[in-house]
Amino acid sequence: MNTVRYVHQTRVPTGFPTAQDFVFAEGPLPSVRPGTILVENVYLSVDPYMRQLMDGGWELGAPLEGRAIGRVLESGDTGFQAGDFVFHREGWRTHALVDAADPRVRPVAAFDGVPLSTHLSILGGTGLSAYVGLVTIARLQAGESVFISAAAGGVGTAAGQLAKVLGAGRVIGSAGSAAKVRHLVDDLGFDAAFNYRDGSVTDQLRAAAPDGIDVYLDNVGGDHLEAAIDSLVEHGRIAWCGAIAQYHDAEPPPAPRNLFDINGKRLRMEGFAVREHDHLLPEWTDLVVPHLQSGRVVPDETVVDGFDAVVEAFLGVLHGRNVGKMIVRTAAE
Ligand code: NAP
Repeated sequence: MNTVRYVHQTRVPTGFPTAQDFVFAEGPLPSVRPGTILVENVYLSVDPYMRQLMDGGWELGAPLEGRAIGRVLESGDTGFQAGDFVFHREGWRTHALVDAADPRVRPVAAFDGVPLSTHLSILGGTGLSAYVGLVTIARLQAGESVFISAAAGGVGTAAGQLAKVLGAGRVIGSAGSAAKVRHLVDDLGFDAAFNYRDGSVTDQLRAAAPDGIDVYLDNVGGDHLEAAIDSLVEHGRIAWCGAIAQYHDAEPPPAPRNLFDINGKRLRMEGFAVREHDHLLPEWTDLVVPHLQSGRVVPDETVVDGFDAVVEAFLGVLHGRNVGKMIVRTAAE
């Protein structure tokens, strides 16, 4: 095959994006120059932050970017050989000409029994976000109760399992369907979970955590954050990872209406960007790989096949059609 297929964004969406906001394009396969590597992408990551990029961060009519794992087809750099698997940032396309000197480009380590795709899920920025949120930001202690929103997603499924590994007391999750709620409790070891569509998040969290919570990992914002502030005990901590409930809104949400309780309960709320914590990736890898190999932690992923599926996979994340991390497989390993 001598062509590369890309995806372009065609317009800035109002509200939820649709497939009409994207177009597939193609061009000639680039030639390797010294210092570059030609990569065939095997796995692509589609993530909620890309919705924010659609509001002006991505150039219209240009190839989109994202995290990817690919196989080196041809190398113009002594650090990489044909056949190596590499992590890089030129996703949303079938092939990429990657600058080998880019510090974000790295060979992918192979761990016995651990799928390659996990380098985009639990072993990648998604799992690292769970680690940074619970350990670095919230400083979770053994025995403490944790609430995690969007718990059946990539960050959430990693965070719930990590909380258990760290010896958390009660681990509670919220998600958007009965099947996801069952999955959290039956398959991933959450102590309790509820469907936020079933009623007031505040009431459901109070029922799931009658003694309150010590830590909240927020992936959703809005009414979830208000509910967590309500249930947090004195000196509780909020690690604010994301606010997917408001990514499509032009106006900020009305909740949380109880922000002054942060003073009343002497809570600590801190946001973070995982890209500022890349140096913790080896530490996170060392911690989690033995648990992945023993089966105590499972890499939760929804893998869809084919480059044609990439736009629908991205839209699916925004609509909750994923369980665990959404990944697109574009070529065979
Ligand atoms: P994800 O949780 O795998 O996918 C997003 C999930 O959000 C969907 O599956 C959906 O599940 C849920 N959702 C969508 N709209 C919602 C709404 N209005 N209310 C409640 N839930 C909603 O995605 P992820 O990659 O793991 O990211 C999770 C969050 O972390 C996002 O907010 C993301 O922006 C943030 N994040 C931040 C960082 C950082 O550096 N701070 C890094 C990675 C991710 P349901 O079926 O349960 O609704």
